[in-house]
Amino acid sequence: MLNRVLNTAFEIGKEKTELGTVATYIPELGKADKNDLGVCISTQYGMTLCAGQCEKRFTIQSISKIINFAVALEKLGAEKVFERVGMEPSGDAFNSLMKLEKADSTPHNPMVNAGAMVICGYLTEICTFEEMLQHARRWCMDEEIYMDEDVYASEMANLSRNRAIAYLLHSKGYITADVEKTLDLYVKMCSLSVTAKSLANLGLVLACKGVDPKTNEVLLQPETVKIVNTIMFTCGMYDGAGEFALRVGIPSKSGVGGGIISVVKGTMGIGIYGPALDAKGNSIAGIEILEYVSKNLNLHMFE
Ligand code: GLU
Repeated sequence: MLNRVLNTAFEIGKEKTELGTVATYIPELGKADKNDLGVCISTQYGMTLCAGQCEKRFTIQSISKIINFAVALEKLGAEKVFERVGMEPSGDAFNSLMKLEKADSTPHNPMVNAGAMVICGYLTEICTFEEMLQHARRWCMDEEIYMDEDVYASEMANLSRNRAIAYLLHSKGYITADVEKTLDLYVKMCSLSVTAKSLANLGLVLACKGVDPKTNEVLLQPETVKIVNTIMFTCGMYDGAGEFALRVGIPSKSGVGGGIISVVKGTMGIGIYGPALDAKGNSIAGIEILEYVSKNLNLHMFE
């Protein structure tokens, strides 16, 4: 049943890839093949189902915001973390500067660039990139995750907008760490090379309250997972989060590299790679796939 739904969903998604475009504002991402597509489902009973290119590596981009956020929550606690970043959807583009200049300009949430930079500011003061990489490898159950040097260099060379955001936040006291170090950590985390399978594994840990169902090891505190999943649900799909919540009804986070991670409470993690994006920056095939899977397996949270 699960396999049949997955394969049909994949075929439906495959028809859509032609309609999207790959991100090019980070030039290295423009080299992706827009017809690539992979979907992986990882279940609490230890089953892994794949369709298409599940093992193909691509950069995690904004999905790293979840890892950054989780580490900050675990190390600092929610009260401290939310001193400098909000928990409301922004309705604006992920890299918007528009509202940051206003009087109460607390970045909306940790899923938009400004909020993620606040989180990286905290992290810069308390841990190293190496430590972050180890968390990513463990939580994604993928020891081969590495930092893609080409994508990192490409983003660092085209960072004006994110630099502007970070310096503005620094000028207002939302970032107190060294700005360049903060940006370096942010971009390094975006450049982690993952697969649809690694995202499905991370999704499963988040679906199982932070426990690795294979070993029963506690990887994240349940409170951290509750907060991360909630913010993903309301803010994870750029300014398309509301429509996505209605159509799919599963906490998810996407990245401009074409990845999507989805968390089905208590049941499964879903990872997708489809670099052809829609106008909002979400994988065009990925959304179709998730909508089909959600409908046919009855996974919508409110259905
Ligand atoms: N590295 C990208 C940026 O900051 C991530 C954006 C995304 O995936 O939404 O522009």
